[in-house]
Amino acid sequence: MAKKHAPGSRARYMAGWADEKREELIKKLGGKCAKCGTRKTLEFDHPNGRDWEPSKHSRWQRIINYRREAELGQIRLLCRSCNANSGKGPGGASVASMVKSFLDAIPF
Ligand SMILES: [Zn+2]
Repeated sequence: MAKKHAPGSRARYMAGWADEKREELIKKLGGKCAKCGTRKTLEFDHPNGRDWEPSKHSRWQRIINYRREAELGQIRLLCRSCNANSGKGPGGASVASMVKSFLDAIPF
């Protein structure tokens, strides 16, 4: 029986490639959160901001950008909760901490 490529196999291949490269990059960056040291729910953080919008890129394009930034020392690993708690922008409180102080202010 002849093997034939299913439609969309290229997209699946690229998704697998992105997963693989993401794992590789996480290992390269130390494999743990730069703040608390956890190895769970790791995300790439840009301490100095970035000049591109992740939502406008496909997964593997993002990985290519992250790899380039890793070479330049422009990204680090943070777990989801540390990333949510790290203030974004000069002098500004992160949305997460603003929401938290809003919720803290509500009397029960
Ligand atoms: Zn953390």
